[in-house]
Amino acid sequence: MAVVAIVGGQWGDEGKGKIVDLLAEKARIVVRFSGGDNAGHTVINPYGEFQLHLVPSGIFTPEATCIIGNGVAINPAVLLKEIEDLHNRGVGTASLFISDRAHLIMPYHTLLDALEEETRSKGALGTTHRGIGPVFADKVARLGIRAGCLLDKDIFRSRLSAALQLKNAILTKVYEVPPLSLEEIYDQYCRYGEQLAPYIRETSSMIRQAAAQGEFVLLEGAQGALLDPDFGTYPYVTSSSPLAGASCIGAGLGPREIDRVVGVFKAYSTRVGAGPMPTELKNQIGDFIRRKADEYGVTTRRPRRCGWFDAVAGRFGVEVNGLTDIALTHLDIYDDFSAVKICTAYRCEDEVLTAFPSDVTILEKCRPIYEDLDGWQESISGIRDFEKLPAGARNYVSRLEDLLSCPVSLISVGSGREQTISVKALNGESSPSSSRA
Ligand code: GDP
Repeated sequence: MAVVAIVGGQWGDEGKGKIVDLLAEKARIVVRFSGGDNAGHTVINPYGEFQLHLVPSGIFTPEATCIIGNGVAINPAVLLKEIEDLHNRGVGTASLFISDRAHLIMPYHTLLDALEEETRSKGALGTTHRGIGPVFADKVARLGIRAGCLLDKDIFRSRLSAALQLKNAILTKVYEVPPLSLEEIYDQYCRYGEQLAPYIRETSSMIRQAAAQGEFVLLEGAQGALLDPDFGTYPYVTSSSPLAGASCIGAGLGPREIDRVVGVFKAYSTRVGAGPMPTELKNQIGDFIRRKADEYGVTTRRPRRCGWFDAVAGRFGVEVNGLTDIALTHLDIYDDFSAVKICTAYRCEDEVLTAFPSDVTILEKCRPIYEDLDGWQESISGIRDFEKLPAGARNYVSRLEDLLSCPVSLISVGSGREQTISVKALNGESSPSSSRA
């Protein structure tokens, strides 16, 4: 058994929820390690179809302990609603815990998120207005309020009044909107605190202990590599790191504990919000992919931008995460295509680039250089064996492995848990289910 990080290899929405739900069947602990309720995972399993924003996708496995790690920003109202929805549909949360170090999204975070985005006007980043940017800014500015504060009303009140003094000055003097009431927020969050208290505790020691005992621990990421604040398309990025490196910090493990890093990639590219996307298809092909794959945000229902697989960006995602394996999802979306393309390099003015540029203004000028591959024009959703895939699909997977220099260990051919081709076991067990491994 092993500690395995599951991260997004592209711009998020790769299908991490499905992969975590699937692998969680054998896990002892599943930890969500970054992001907030700006992320949304869709999970379809024997319990039904669920949209999770904060609760780890392992919640459907009763034997697995699920932890919302210290690296996550929590909106208590959203979390309580998510817990209630799970209960209403027969999914228990007795094994759910919240790190006392996780930061809380406060009403001024969501308000400031919207006001800041409005001020950016044409330069808007396309944030989800969930307060994610402001809460992570407060974390590093040492102004944040953590889940553990809810367990002591006096500490909570003093932290809240210190933060609110500054926030109200900004709201009234910079944005010229009415101040927020200390008493209202205090009362509301004390109520949240009473409801969430049974879940809040120190969690990193539980995770380290399980890892030390050789248990199977899954570290569940949110968003994707190209939205990382350091390595993504800055400033069109998210506010906490989605990379495998952050899985250690967001859970409380040392880097040596991680045995495998699985990058989830779609067979094509999608991006939601603003920022460059070299392979975007603003045509019928892009529309077709969006329609067939229902590419609309789980959290915002915003249409996702769709395009061919970008292997320049993909290789970068492999490298900055140090991936050991790829889980390739949505291969079935290409079932109707007679030919498909992969971007293997960029043309930028007179230069050919094979490395992902660090500067977004360069990426904006990049035009994709494509390689053409045959499609397969048959349904693969019912296939469970790599060898039974049509030649076109097998070639496509092999070409991606070559271009990304990383093995594809799992292939998803539909949204259901069972619609999966396991090429190599990902839980540290040495029982490959395919002769290809
Ligand atoms: P996440 O945030 O990375 O978990 O991804 P999302 O939940 O935002 O989006 C993934 C969507 O694709 C969900 O609706 C999944 O049910 C669906 N999905 C996952 N894998 C596959 C697949 O292999 N094929 C198809 N057609 N849909 C998939």
